[in-house]
Amino acid sequence: MNDALCDESRLIKGPRSLPPVNAVLDAVRAALAEARAALLEGRGAATDPDALARRALVLIDRRESDPGRLRPVLNATGIVLHTGLGRAPWAEEAVERASAVARGFCNLEFELEEGERGRRTSGVVPLIRELTGAEAATVVNNNAAATVLALRALAAGREVVVSRGELIEIGGGFRLPEVFEVSGARLREVGTTNKTRLDDYRRALGPNTAALLRVHPSNYRIVGFTEQAPLPDLARLAHDHGLWMIDDIGSGTLAPGLPSGVDGEPTAAEGIAAGADVVLFSGDKLLGGPQCGVLAGAAPAIRRIEADPMMRALRVDKTTLAALEATLQLVRDGRGPDRLPVWRMIAAPLEELAARAEGLARAFRDLGLNASVVAAESQIGGGSAPVRPIPTRAVRVDPPFPPPHETERAWARALRLGGPPVVARIQAGAVLFDPRTLAVTDEPPLIEAVRIIGKID
Ligand SMILES: *Cc1c(COP(=O)(O)O)cnc(C)c1O
Repeated sequence: MNDALCDESRLIKGPRSLPPVNAVLDAVRAALAEARAALLEGRGAATDPDALARRALVLIDRRESDPGRLRPVLNATGIVLHTGLGRAPWAEEAVERASAVARGFCNLEFELEEGERGRRTSGVVPLIRELTGAEAATVVNNNAAATVLALRALAAGREVVVSRGELIEIGGGFRLPEVFEVSGARLREVGTTNKTRLDDYRRALGPNTAALLRVHPSNYRIVGFTEQAPLPDLARLAHDHGLWMIDDIGSGTLAPGLPSGVDGEPTAAEGIAAGADVVLFSGDKLLGGPQCGVLAGAAPAIRRIEADPMMRALRVDKTTLAALEATLQLVRDGRGPDRLPVWRMIAAPLEELAARAEGLARAFRDLGLNASVVAAESQIGGGSAPVRPIPTRAVRVDPPFPPPHETERAWARALRLGGPPVVARIQAGAVLFDPRTLAVTDEPPLIEAVRIIGKID
């Protein structure tokens, strides 16, 4: 091995300071690739073994700051439920409860009264029941898992009737029909994109039908000449024929109290009241909790779902359950609007956002940047609510070094790679910072990150 790599101070300190062989190999290959690329581009490169080895050591040290590592980022995009940025930030109460159970043992599947094996969901189920009116409930890894599990447990090998207008694609290229097919149930599409009547469902029923499925078209809305059979009618039709009624509401509005703009989102309680046997929703969309999928409904349906072997593969861990329990408790106690970051961000008053944007613009101007407050639009995001964008006030900042030295894209990239990473919106020659998705406590680190990047040329 090369001298620099075998340098005593690095390698003879004992096994603890020895970088793993893979890391050394990766770094050496990267150093060689850099030198090769530099030579090919006609730039000079130090190719003597010592120089390459020194470069490899620098790259080994840099592993710790690899941008691929999971770390907190500042979300200045104005997209509240940004799937790429981890969707819902948790309430402080959820963070505390999750970290308390993460640190040590907990009664995850242990009944403290009798000292016997207990049920994993015994903490959250009473809260879900209380909030939705459902008889029973269970929790899995996300809502996609909830749909697959419900269809598998209630309809595998049989037909599920669903409206053509509801076979949607959710974010990241996930098409619901493809997710559904994994369950082993066969989709029987009825109606047309804009109109599906009760009769369309009725005509599709046959000896092999197991369920009717309604999917809330979360991220788009069909407007104009439209018709969709109401859920109570669908549920009645299902029950008259001994079929299950499955209702995938997606976003997870549990209770009223969400700000206007989200009005009109179906709630789980409405689904249960309308006669659905199972209502499905995400934990990390409008509910504002951890990533999970909740199945709430009639006891016989939930029993079958929990008895499915796939349940074991999709179950959630103790931290998710602790965070979900805390989140549900806040909603139940009417404290969602105060304590859930997602709810607070969606409801933030325009005057408050304008004042915060002014403050940030002033701080950026003090750093010598050209910054102003502009009218812009925030999004709820997360494939959660097909609602109108929410008006906001954002800070528009020109890159510190005008083209050709720097473009808005280059500056936005530098912000993403800064400390802490800042993800902002790029718009027509400038970078936009929307205070809606920034906590007030994010502002000083944001200003500091911008200050440091401004100094690099
Ligand atoms: C978002 C969504 C899903 C998927 O939920 P995840 O929690 O992201 O897995 C399924 N169905 C609908 C209607 C949705 O909106």
